[in-house]
Amino acid sequence: MKHRFSFFKKMHSLKTVLLLAFIIIGFVPGCAIGGIFLSFYQSRALDNDTVSMTSQAQLLNDQIISTGYLKDTDIDVINTQLKALGNIYSGRIIIIDKTLRVVKDTYDLSDGKTFVWENAILGLKGERTSVYDDVSHCLILTVPITASDRSNTIEGVILITKSTDAIEQNITFYRNLYTYILLVLVVVIALIAVYFSDRFTKPFEKLAGLILNSQDTHNEVKVDNYTETEEISANFNDVMQKMRDIDESRQEFVSNVSHELKTPLTSMKVLADSLNSMEEGAPVELYQDFMHDITHEIDRETKIINDLLSLVRMDKSGATMNIESKNINEMLESLLKRLGPIAEKQKVELVLESFRPVTAEIDEVKLSLGIMNLIENGIKYNKEGGYVHVTLNADHQYFYISVEDNGMGIPPDSVDRIFERFYRADKSHSREIGGTGLGLSITKNAIDMHHGEIKVHSVLGEGTTFDVRIPLIYIKEQS
Ligand code: ADP
Repeated sequence: MKHRFSFFKKMHSLKTVLLLAFIIIGFVPGCAIGGIFLSFYQSRALDNDTVSMTSQAQLLNDQIISTGYLKDTDIDVINTQLKALGNIYSGRIIIIDKTLRVVKDTYDLSDGKTFVWENAILGLKGERTSVYDDVSHCLILTVPITASDRSNTIEGVILITKSTDAIEQNITFYRNLYTYILLVLVVVIALIAVYFSDRFTKPFEKLAGLILNSQDTHNEVKVDNYTETEEISANFNDVMQKMRDIDESRQEFVSNVSHELKTPLTSMKVLADSLNSMEEGAPVELYQDFMHDITHEIDRETKIINDLLSLVRMDKSGATMNIESKNINEMLESLLKRLGPIAEKQKVELVLESFRPVTAEIDEVKLSLGIMNLIENGIKYNKEGGYVHVTLNADHQYFYISVEDNGMGIPPDSVDRIFERFYRADKSHSREIGGTGLGLSITKNAIDMHHGEIKVHSVLGEGTTFDVRIPLIYIKEQS
């Protein structure tokens, strides 16, 4: 079974295909050229014979008419000539008069007999014919005997047969010669085919080897013998780079997650240790203070875990989308209602401005979470007396949500990174106000899943605006 498999594998290999192609391309035209040459040679040789036989017949015609041979065959000059011609042609000459009677047959077989043959009859009608008989290998020519006077009346027919054995022998000779040449040609073609098919496929074999090795060595693959191998190399390197990037970002994510989860635990351990080592009779308020701090750390830990879970859910494919046609105005109103108390606590004014009623196909849970993070950030990274301004608008294709605040703003060198997981522009402040660094990556994922776009514009110390654009109709991705 294994042998059969490797045989079929070999038959499918590019090398074998090229080898066969070379042999076929080299051999088939070679055979065809040989066949064409031989048949061309045969027809040329027959044509030449016909021409020379016709001119001989013409000479005979004149002599037969001038000597009245058709009436009296006792003319030695002609008889000798006919015999000699018959010998030269290794054939037979028959003279027939206009009644189809054989006047003279050089084989002396049909003298006096009536010769009924289609071509002889045609000859009497003035038609010259030539037939090649490939069974008895001879050329048969019939030429009308015409009177030399003006009347041009047909007096009889000359029939000349000529053996074509010489031609046949030549053809056999050429055919044999050609077969030998062809055999040599096949060997030469096969050798050339082996050489070239090996040469052509070498770069692909090299490429396969390099790809295999690169798994261990992580080296770049580069085979630039052909455009194709160059393209495969480049694409392979790209894929490998992407895989390395994914691997790197996964490792970074895992180490970030561990670090983030460890921080509240470390604080809790310090607080718990402090509680344990508290002197007897310490005031209850002190215990309460420590317990309050521990609760705060537990809340932080819970928030990180919840955010991580949201992120994982968002990372799943679009198949998990629960798309429904929803009123976006209502969705934003309910979000602002939920965030109102926090804004009030921070003394930040929260305003919603809807320019028109908007209904769109969305996954409400995911999009709400994404927009809520933006509004929450607007409140969190703000100052007393600041504002967060949410607006909703739409055209025939998209709806637009913008979340604008006049808070602390984002440093220009951080703007491009704020959507990264665990990235915090102002680390100490963000941690202090309970940020996990995951909010904006959740938002970005939620918007991406709706095939939307998010853009940020921020001036440090003046405020930040997030502009979101989402299609009104959800387009399911083609798989
Ligand atoms: P976090 O949970 O820390 O808020 P996010 O992913 O939501 O994490 O935001 C990432 C970082 O971007 C924040 O730590 C903060 O520094 C900055 N940021 C986000 N939104 C705003 C905003 N409206 N104003 C100022 N800075 C912001």
